[in-house]
Amino acid sequence: MSGYLLTAPAKINLYLEILGDRPDGFHELVMVMQTIALSDRIEVSSHRGKGINLYCKQPLVPLDERNIAYRAAQLMMARFPHAYEEFGGVDITIEKNIPVAAGLAGGSGNGAAVLVGLNLLWQLGLTQPDLRILAAELGSDVPFCIGGGTAIATGRGEILDPLPDLDGIPIVLAKYSNIAVSTPWAYQTYRAQFEDGYLRDDESWQDRMTQIHSGGLIQAIQTKNIQAIAAELHNDLEKVVLPAFPQVQTLRDCFAKHGAIGTMMSGSGPSVFAICESVEQANQLKTSVSTELNSPDLDLWVTQISCHGIQAATL
Ligand code: ATP
Repeated sequence: MSGYLLTAPAKINLYLEILGDRPDGFHELVMVMQTIALSDRIEVSSHRGKGINLYCKQPLVPLDERNIAYRAAQLMMARFPHAYEEFGGVDITIEKNIPVAAGLAGGSGNGAAVLVGLNLLWQLGLTQPDLRILAAELGSDVPFCIGGGTAIATGRGEILDPLPDLDGIPIVLAKYSNIAVSTPWAYQTYRAQFEDGYLRDDESWQDRMTQIHSGGLIQAIQTKNIQAIAAELHNDLEKVVLPAFPQVQTLRDCFAKHGAIGTMMSGSGPSVFAICESVEQANQLKTSVSTELNSPDLDLWVTQISCHGIQAATL
């Protein structure tokens, strides 16, 4: 066998609340993470030499240590030197369909895919929990990307509690290709503006997490009540990203005006998603928003909520 083809889906945040500052410098978060069908395709195979060859035609994607997929391969080589010795170097080819720097965890998903791919290629027999521990070393969103689906994420985002599947709900996703939002910028700006309201201790964080766990969004997910899910969407980072990027606010308003049952920015943005009742409504919404905003820089996708994380097939 020559290698593996991994499908690495994007994620959206149905909920993102910033609770406070952690001693490690990150924020303490409560998020509801959700995979969607829009996916990158990653091929992982061995080559006779040493080291990592990374190929990707999307010019915004770095091809060296700055790429999370590259760092994932480095991590596996360091942790499993005997397998690296036996199987040789790693070729990684990324076909990018998820927009870059969009708040959709595209890079994190690529990193997760390489962990899953090398586990198979090198016949390591690592379990999902084993892979999630490795994934946490690469980034806060990477553990979620391994298994995907619907989950509450706490801590930095790496502590996961699965929720019932919501697959099949139609989504329209939109992003201006001329806008990129740096995730560190979004969190630093949020801290500068809202630090005074942060919860200060573990006990207050736990109380707030318990409230969210028993709150409206989680109940709506448990009963798969799409209207209620749409009404409970929330993202604290909108408070800093929307004023700084008025086009994103306009996009969000346009989704709402044309009948989305719920709309929200994903992660640190600037992508915005809209929840729809049917695929027909989603296609109609895409057309209406595209016509009204009429911009060559606006990309739109009709996709759907998915219950899958990284999926693998032999090449
Ligand atoms: P997150 O939601 O996890 O914060 P994001 O969706 O906002 O991520 P990415 O698409 O992961 O953003 O890209 C963020 C930056 O990471 C990009 O500017 C790019 O330079 C870098 N990057 C590193 N590895 C990758 C990768 N495999 N794919 C895309 N970008 C990558």
